[in-house]
Amino acid sequence: MIGVAILGATGSVGRNTLDVLERHPDTYRVVSLAARSDARRLAELCLRHRPDVAVMEQPDAAAELERRLREAGSATRVASGAGAIEALARDAAADVVMAAISGAAGLRSTLAAAAAGKRLLLANKESVVMAGELLLAAVRAGGATLIPIDSEHNAIFQCLPPDVRAGERPAGVRRLLLTASGGPFLGWTAAAMARATPEQACAHPRWSMGRKISVDSATLMNKGLELIEATVLFGVEPRDISVVVHPQSIVHSLVEYVDGSTLAQLSAPDMRTPIAQGLAWPGRIAAGVEFLDLARIGSLEFTAPDRARFPCLGLAEAAARSGGTACAWLNAADEVAVQAFLDKQLNFGDIPGVIERVMNDAPGVALKDLDAVLATDAQARARARAVLAESGGVARSGLA
Ligand code: MG
Repeated sequence: MIGVAILGATGSVGRNTLDVLERHPDTYRVVSLAARSDARRLAELCLRHRPDVAVMEQPDAAAELERRLREAGSATRVASGAGAIEALARDAAADVVMAAISGAAGLRSTLAAAAAGKRLLLANKESVVMAGELLLAAVRAGGATLIPIDSEHNAIFQCLPPDVRAGERPAGVRRLLLTASGGPFLGWTAAAMARATPEQACAHPRWSMGRKISVDSATLMNKGLELIEATVLFGVEPRDISVVVHPQSIVHSLVEYVDGSTLAQLSAPDMRTPIAQGLAWPGRIAAGVEFLDLARIGSLEFTAPDRARFPCLGLAEAAARSGGTACAWLNAADEVAVQAFLDKQLNFGDIPGVIERVMNDAPGVALKDLDAVLATDAQARARARAVLAESGGVARSGLA
């Protein structure tokens, strides 16, 4: 039996992972589940999947989880705190670690799984964006197998030679093509986008995702972060990556080789496909996903992104070229700006401008260690909050 730890179990990727695992009870065993604060949902998952251990990052939530599980007669042990989540990532019972805690909060546990030599299914893009070099160093030192689960990077991974190593440019690759759905505002005017509400920004036409990544998808910052992610994972320069808008979200990304061949990975827009690929690689397992009916889909469209309407893409490319801590700075500025928008303290159309102003103050610092990354993250958040306050974007205090 292959033991699986799921960090970020209550989110979209975590629940899709459990859906795939449940289809293969003779091959995989859920050894641990971790989540930030949703005790009610984690209790439901524990009762269904019976992990040995469940961890809530927040102590109050852990107490509630403990109460719910004891009332239901569950044998699952409960722990709390970020340190306990890191312990799950290192636990010898876990052969595979799904790193799906979103944001900077997932950084330490992702690095811990890499250093412990796990098969690391990487769905926490912030750990690559903020601390890419550190992550690659931990993967090498620990002998981990890193498989990207973000659908675009998983598609590229599937189109590369099987002996590809994380962070090393494969021979013969000329260019990577990242596809973007274009998000919910693809056909909107700039004036309409400027006034878009959080509900409109989170109504993604193809993918069902958390609110932060949905807003990033609407600004195209998600694609910008994915471009940074691709430079790290595949050892290429920003200029070696092209973004192409593909509204059907059937082609998840492509690899162009020097001989003129372009390989693509196609599937329904369903995260269970990359998750199953990562779990079973180099084999294949059923994922419960709908198969493609190309005749019914009919046509696949590709266009260049509108950089004037989506300036976040250019901001991310500039950060990728700067390297060092610039990408961590960008990630933090984006998280603060998006949260302000979701809290209705910032207009959608002002998100790129806030990030750009914060980026103007980014120090050109090399990425040394995790403490430097976290210090950069804290500084950038403080700067972003100050920019919001200066611009009158913050109507109330307490913006986190
Ligand atoms: Mg993606």
